[in-house]
Amino acid sequence: MNLILMGLPGAGKGTQAEKIVEKYGVPHISTGDMFRAAIKNGTELGLKAKAFMDEGALVPDEVTIGIVRERLSQDDCAKGFLLDGFPRTPAQAQALEEMTTDLGRTLDHVIYIKVPRDDLFKRLTGRWICPDCGTAYHEVFNPPKEAGKCDKDGSELIQRDDDKPETVDKRLEVNLEQTKPLVDFYEEKGYLRNIDGQQDISDVFADVDKLLQESRA
Ligand SMILES: [Zn+2]
Repeated sequence: MNLILMGLPGAGKGTQAEKIVEKYGVPHISTGDMFRAAIKNGTELGLKAKAFMDEGALVPDEVTIGIVRERLSQDDCAKGFLLDGFPRTPAQAQALEEMTTDLGRTLDHVIYIKVPRDDLFKRLTGRWICPDCGTAYHEVFNPPKEAGKCDKDGSELIQRDDDKPETVDKRLEVNLEQTKPLVDFYEEKGYLRNIDGQQDISDVFADVDKLLQESRA
């Protein structure tokens, strides 16, 4: 079961990844974790990546691809993997295809959790947190009892810069632009599986699960 999980910020990708891992026992391979591990273990590629990151530069594709390759060659990936955050570009996707072929694997599905942009905007801008105890609220999905106040200690809730409308708008724009060519790439290759992310978390997973069960049979 070799999978890629895609979705814009706020689409609920993290939650679905957890559920897939729990049920199917495949390792969840996020780009961030993979880089941290390579750097911590001091692998040659890890050190290369670190040098770029220390300069605030983008890690070049060949380094990133090398790190993914190292990770996918490890024992725990023998029965499958769930890639998250990679590939980011059609060039990386092409490299991944060559790599999996090389490793004698084939990609099964690219699961794309689809949520309309307006909906993502609502989800992402509705977050408020308590500066004192860290409790998180959401205007629509999990509002405090009294508007703008923490249920636990009555502190005035604040909105992180990341959750402010103009920041969210920009982030969604950038992500959409990045994701589009990748979605097109996998659509053309026939790997793309659109999942309706506007449903409840459990219904989204039911759809994902159905897809994975069918492909096993
Ligand atoms: Zn509080």
